[in-house]
Amino acid sequence: MVLAAQRPILEIAGLNKWFGAMHALRDIDLSIAAGEKIVVCGPSGSGKSTMVRCINALERYQTGEVRLQGRLVNADCDSLLSVRREVGMVFQSFNLFPHLSVIDNVALGPRKLLRIGREEAEHRAMDLLARVKLADQARKVPSQLSGGQQQRVAIARALAMNPKLMLFDEPTSALDPEMVKEVLDVMMSLAHEGMTMICVTHEMGFARAVADRIVFMADGAIQETAVPQAFFCGDCGARARQFISHIT
Ligand code: ADP
Ligand code: MG
Repeated sequence: MVLAAQRPILEIAGLNKWFGAMHALRDIDLSIAAGEKIVVCGPSGSGKSTMVRCINALERYQTGEVRLQGRLVNADCDSLLSVRREVGMVFQSFNLFPHLSVIDNVALGPRKLLRIGREEAEHRAMDLLARVKLADQARKVPSQLSGGQQQRVAIARALAMNPKLMLFDEPTSALDPEMVKEVLDVMMSLAHEGMTMICVTHEMGFARAVADRIVFMADGAIQETAVPQAFFCGDCGARARQFISHIT
């Protein structure tokens, strides 16, 4: 099989991270193939955000390595800019630029980092906004949009850089319940288009529908990695079973 011969997009090996005396990530090993979709779940404080932040060099780590397409990623690396270009990140709290219009939020990265001209960047931004069903909101500023709409802009903004890998850190946790679906729908269509994705989420319906593997973290370590079918059948350790029973 051609895919099997390809090097994984992301390789994490022996990753350890401390915040002072606090051991936040313990011996993390995780390898992700092109097109794979991983859902990461686990109790609050288990290190999920810290792990995804290490992947796009928002966080330093002490031992082990993170490789993106074979290239070493760390917060001091020369390739920091290219890492940030190749990895799109969507946060719980949207993090849009409040003073810029929706279209400028999406077009800014390509203009400043990829040096694409204004007209082309805006054209592309409009295509992406159409894809997240927000073409009609392009001239508004973020505060004029609902939370679900803002999060869809954040996804379009990340996609504008043409990333190889998308990281989502609890993208629906800050949303009112009626807005969760519109964001998950965009994420699902991305998944179906073949995007490589790591999604930290407790939306287990999404995990069942989309995940190739579910990674369960607790105490800074990966406790379980399972396909959704096995994970939800309780074919996993007691800790994960207890977690699943609390959130489903
Ligand atoms: P999760 O995303 O699974 O809720 P985090 O990765 O945010 O967990 O946090 C893992 C642990 O690291 C927690 O105990 C948290 O308090 C701690 N932590 C996270 N960020 C920092 C920081 N900047 N400084 C100190 N401790 C931190
Ligand atoms: Mg978190």
